[in-house]
Formats: sequence, structure tokens, C-alpha cells
Amino acid sequence: MLISQFQTVGRDLCARGLVSSHSGNLSIKLGERLCITHRSSMLGCLEEHDLVETRINKNDRFTPLASRELAVHRAVYKRTPASAIVHAHPAYAVTLSFSEQEIIPCDTEGSLLLSRVPVLSFGTTVKPGECAEEIADALTTHKIILVRGHGSFAAGQLLEEAYHYTTALEESCRLLYLLKALK
Ligand SMILES: [Zn+2]
Repeated sequence: MLISQFQTVGRDLCARGLVSSHSGNLSIKLGERLCITHRSSMLGCLEEHDLVETRINKNDRFTPLASRELAVHRAVYKRTPASAIVHAHPAYAVTLSFSEQEIIPCDTEGSLLLSRVPVLSFGTTVKPGECAEEIADALTTHKIILVRGHGSFAAGQLLEEAYHYTTALEESCRLLYLLKALK
């Protein structure tokens, strides 16, 4: 069931504080279409009517209902082999995005899984839906990327996989932050 995959990941992102009540978005690719969370939906309590199906390559009557980050999701599906995307606002990762140009995890899980995570738009501030091509380009060679002062975009074959990259990045950033505090 499609909705149950969205509900599991959405609820968990919310419970872990990786999104605020109305932020973050999720999508999966369905051939030439994608299924994405509704504009301003609450990831912690998603229902069927919170999912929007629209085309990857052109607009239809459902397009305006989709998340404000639709342009990024479309660009990623056009440029990479990904079938699922998770966008979140993890606090420690976003904090480090202001001072670092890339995140190099020092813990075992983070370094094995992610090796290094680029921070895009370093030195500028980006609005939702912007930098779609730059994000998609970075996701051709990385599992997850950070947009400075905004959040993470993770791409995988399943929502659960992209969710795993999101939690691993935040855990690595929490440890990096704590190590900085020790110094
Ligand atoms: Zn966002």
C-alpha cells in the first residue's frame, strides 16, 4: 500500500523532530508520474487526500496541489535513477550547513553509508523549489545533500532508504556538533 509507506516515514520524521508540523515532503516515482505529498501537508498524520499524483515532465490539473518543492523532485527523477525522495529539516545538519561547505561524518555508520555530504548554496539563502538543477546534479553522485540554512534532500529506491540516509546524516551531524562543543 502506497499510503502506508508515506505514513510510516512521515510519522517517524515528525516524531524524531526532523521536520516541523507542516514542513518536509516525500515522493515516489511511478513511471512517468510521481506521487508527492500535498502542499503544506502535515507529515505526522498523512491520509490518502494528502498525496498528489502528477506528471514528471509536464503540468496537469493536480500540479498546483503538490508540495512547493515539486520542481526539485521532478529534476531529481529526470537526472538520477532514484525512485523515492525525502526532504527534511534536521536541526543539527542545518546548523552545521551555515558553517561547513561539506559534512564529513566521523562515526562508523555515517562514514560507511554517506562518506561525505555536500552543502549547496553555501553563502546564500535559497527559497523552496529553487536550485532544483543544482540539487539534482549533486544527487547523481551523493545519496543525500544539504541546502544551506534549509534542509536535506535524500534520494533512494524506497522511501525507507531515503529516510535512513536522513536519520544517519542527522546523527552524524549531532555527533560532529557535540565534538565541536568538547573542544
Ligand atoms: Zn524545506
